[in-house]
Amino acid sequence: MAKCDEGYRCEVCGRDVEAVTDSDLYLRYVLGEVPLELLHRLPERHLCCNPALAQYITDPGFGPVACPGPFDKAGLDPTFVTDEERRVTRGWLRLQAIPTLGLTVPEYPLAVTPDGDGSGDPTPRSVPHPFPSPPPRGEREEAPSRSVLFPPPPAGEGG
Ligand SMILES: [Zn+2]
Repeated sequence: MAKCDEGYRCEVCGRDVEAVTDSDLYLRYVLGEVPLELLHRLPERHLCCNPALAQYITDPGFGPVACPGPFDKAGLDPTFVTDEERRVTRGWLRLQAIPTLGLTVPEYPLAVTPDGDGSGDPTPRSVPHPFPSPPPRGEREEAPSRSVLFPPPPAGEGG
């Protein structure tokens, strides 16, 4: 049951979901629809493999997804659709920013770490290093070279 050796396989198309930014599961986690404790138990899907949700992503960076059938947003209440588009698109923008935000997984959800006033610009304020710098290996103190401040006393003997 626990297959952790590779990436997570999309339960719809059977291909790996290679990036968190392409993950329907993580989008729903960001939106608060999936609790943290279920994150590793629920099946993974590509965003585009879950059109019922992906159709609400209205960002130009994400191609429009059609969802024919009873969940097609074209047949739903426009007010609901507008709210969903705002909510899901905001979550998607958070999802796209996750690789550069330096958040831990529990901090992914917008309810935990809001992205400011949410007005448009998803650009993170500061982009930390994608990988934390490794700790130094062992303490290696370099002794400063000792410069001789005081010349040795002249070897002369009075007498
Ligand atoms: Zn898929």
